[in-house]
Amino acid sequence: MSNLPSYVILNDPQDNRVNVLRQPAQSLTFPLSKEDREIVQILTDKFEQEDNCAGLAAPQIGFAKQIIIFEVPDDPKLKKWRPDLVQTMPKTVWINPTYEPLGDEKHSDYEGCFSVKDMAGPVARFKTIHYSAYTLEGEHVEGRAEGFLARLLQHEIDHLRGRCFIDYVPDGELLSIEEYRKRRQKAMES
Ligand SMILES: [Zn+2]
Repeated sequence: MSNLPSYVILNDPQDNRVNVLRQPAQSLTFPLSKEDREIVQILTDKFEQEDNCAGLAAPQIGFAKQIIIFEVPDDPKLKKWRPDLVQTMPKTVWINPTYEPLGDEKHSDYEGCFSVKDMAGPVARFKTIHYSAYTLEGEHVEGRAEGFLARLLQHEIDHLRGRCFIDYVPDGELLSIEEYRKRRQKAMES
């Protein structure tokens, strides 16, 4: 799959595609056009190529379109690092997804992103959200998400709004990926 597009990297001064991550993505219309279906396929292939990927948004590979793909598996190892993983979701593609917070309670936890090279940091996210989206067939879905799933959806949907997790990391708390992995390793062992 070497012909898949590379990630747009916000902290790479050589990357001239970063605008796509800093602008609102376009909504899609149904039935999906051939071009949009091709973008869904490329995003899906990119997602499946990664071992350790919870979610991706189309702007991350250069397409300013409101498409995300994500998965929250029932994985005991992941649960150790994410004790708030209380709700799982099989691999899912959503078109034109949005969310609204339910209540104003927030929880801070570490995030990383394929669009931010070698960095991770703590982000306060709403604990519970209401989501609304469309399937590939144009069927409307909505519901309530909490914990890690809510965090993941906020992270991915924010990419469609031109926002990235680094916008929310408190000053001085951005970590190198090595430091992040060390903390994660320690948490997994304890
Ligand atoms: Zn991301």
